[in-house]
Amino acid sequence: MLRRLGVRAVEVRKPEQLEGLDGLVIPGGESTTFMRLMRLYGLDEAVREFSGPVLGTCAGMIVLDRNHLGAVDLDVDRNAYGRQVASFEADLTLAGESEPLRGVFIRAPRVREAGPEVEVLAELDREPVLLRQGRFIVASFHPELTEDTRVHERFLDVVREEANVRA
Ligand code: GLN
Repeated sequence: MLRRLGVRAVEVRKPEQLEGLDGLVIPGGESTTFMRLMRLYGLDEAVREFSGPVLGTCAGMIVLDRNHLGAVDLDVDRNAYGRQVASFEADLTLAGESEPLRGVFIRAPRVREAGPEVEVLAELDREPVLLRQGRFIVASFHPELTEDTRVHERFLDVVREEANVRA
């Protein structure tokens, strides 16, 4: 998705690979595995120290919450819509836009509580599913699984904003 938007994207598996990056995506997957491997390789500390914009989707949202890396002021409940068979898609309304955004929810987490600094960018049944806190954007769904690039574009806007602040 990022490459389609003209971004040079590289994989990060080790702490030193974070050096010099303008932004970081923590994708979906399995948060328990992520946490275990991140601790093993010291990537947990490195991500905490990373000062650039971060996009966390699904498991990526979970690992950024208060109970994991503590980067975003959120309480997130894993697998809160049920098991794999309860995975679903739904149209979401994106703040400031009329065209709906298709959300793909795969064993998705649910936000139980969000702190005052957290801004809601999209909701599903009155629950936040896309949120921003400063340089962090988190989604409980998978924005990379449709053709719609708007979530990634918003992330790139944050990357550009932060790059200007730092320049
Ligand atoms: N259920 C996974 C977890 O708890 C998240 C699923 C996903 O990233 N699609 O980490």
